[in-house]
Amino acid sequence: MCGIFGYTGKGLAYASLLEGLSRLEYRGYDSCGMAAVNKNKLFLRKRAGKINQLKSDLQNILSAETTLALLHTRWATHGRPNRANAHPHWGCDRRIAVVHNGIIENFLQLKQELKAQGHKFLSETDSEVVAHLIEKFYRRSLTEAVFKTVDKLKGSFALGVIALREPDKLIAARKDSPLIIGRGPKGLFLASDMPALLTFSKQAVYLKNREVAVLTGGKINPVRKYPGAGCAVFSNGINIFDFKKKPVRPALETVKLKPEAAEKKGYPHFMLKEIFEQPRVLDRIFSLYSPGQKIHFPQMRLPGKFLKSIDKIYVTACGTAYHAGYVAKYFLEKTCPLSLEIDTSSEFRYRKLSLDRNSLLIAISQSGETADTLAAVREAKKCGAKILSICNVLGSSLVKESDGFIATLAGPEIGVASTKAYTAQVCCLYLFSLYLARLKGSLNAKNQRAILNSLKRIPDY
Ligand code: GLU
Repeated sequence: MCGIFGYTGKGLAYASLLEGLSRLEYRGYDSCGMAAVNKNKLFLRKRAGKINQLKSDLQNILSAETTLALLHTRWATHGRPNRANAHPHWGCDRRIAVVHNGIIENFLQLKQELKAQGHKFLSETDSEVVAHLIEKFYRRSLTEAVFKTVDKLKGSFALGVIALREPDKLIAARKDSPLIIGRGPKGLFLASDMPALLTFSKQAVYLKNREVAVLTGGKINPVRKYPGAGCAVFSNGINIFDFKKKPVRPALETVKLKPEAAEKKGYPHFMLKEIFEQPRVLDRIFSLYSPGQKIHFPQMRLPGKFLKSIDKIYVTACGTAYHAGYVAKYFLEKTCPLSLEIDTSSEFRYRKLSLDRNSLLIAISQSGETADTLAAVREAKKCGAKILSICNVLGSSLVKESDGFIATLAGPEIGVASTKAYTAQVCCLYLFSLYLARLKGSLNAKNQRAILNSLKRIPDY
């Protein structure tokens, strides 16, 4: 899953747009591309390779501005990493452009149907069916065509869609793959991850699962009515609907991160910078969760009475977070009298679980968007268990779907190999185990103080 960046507004230079896209380079990618409205035409440039190479292809227009654009970095799942398979993709008449993160599971069947109806495909990707489906459904309203399209798709998707006939409109849709809308002085932005938005946006909305957003950044004021949806009355250019076209009020949040958070600050690479950030992250965790001799979690929301009564904890996570969970297993078992099991999230839903109302599921994820961990959370909720998430991203799906939440406070982790996010997870889990042990009475105040004092020396070491 890779990077999406989009823009609708009064005008932004191509160079700035490519700069935004390059903030998503850390995710790794094999090809990249851009579609934009330029002089009443929809133009598309894409290539295998790096954003810098795309930048040289676009050398003579870099300082020119556009009012509508979609950019993408691809990490191939279906089809080779070459120019034809790079995104954006467009329909047969080249008037619609689409970028996609994720996997369309029923693309083969859709492709066959569309081919039989006369659509010509240019790539081997699963994503291209989205462009042709939208083209097929597009009569008067692009929004309407997107609603009809998402109804046909199975799998996971974050989509960005633009059309030449509606040159002020950028449409987004998400299912199981993250998308964030940014709002700033230059207009409205769309991105699959926060670093791309930091230099452009002062406010952001995290799109929820199964939502469509219609963004009109050029005219931020008019109150619009979208006929198919009854009444959309938000006047900030951001109109959000669920997949059933019911309007949803956009929850605008202030972006607190500074653009520097996504810069290397003199280090040769992000991973080294993040290794050196660990003491500061741990200090931050202690100053919020244990400023004195006690431990408290302001956002945890799980009642002490429940925590006291739990007899079973499941821990679930993927990749590095799973290893943090494994470390936690040792100290939770040591400090608290309860039974504890740990599972990698991709296996969790296939097990026969003995979860009930007295169980707690601890779900750990840096991004809060790990699909398997979210699936595990939904499974545990069905059994009545309560969910505590340990997560680095406040507005993420995981945090929203959990009963309680401990923020790991590590800041954006750009390096692909996890360092400070892992350390922060382990530290938060350790504090939680001490907190729980005190509640359950298996650790006395004196011993907790002694452990805390040693823990708090770690940043100095
Ligand atoms: N499945 C799509 C493709 O292979 C999207 C991959 C991505 O998320 O970058 O083109």
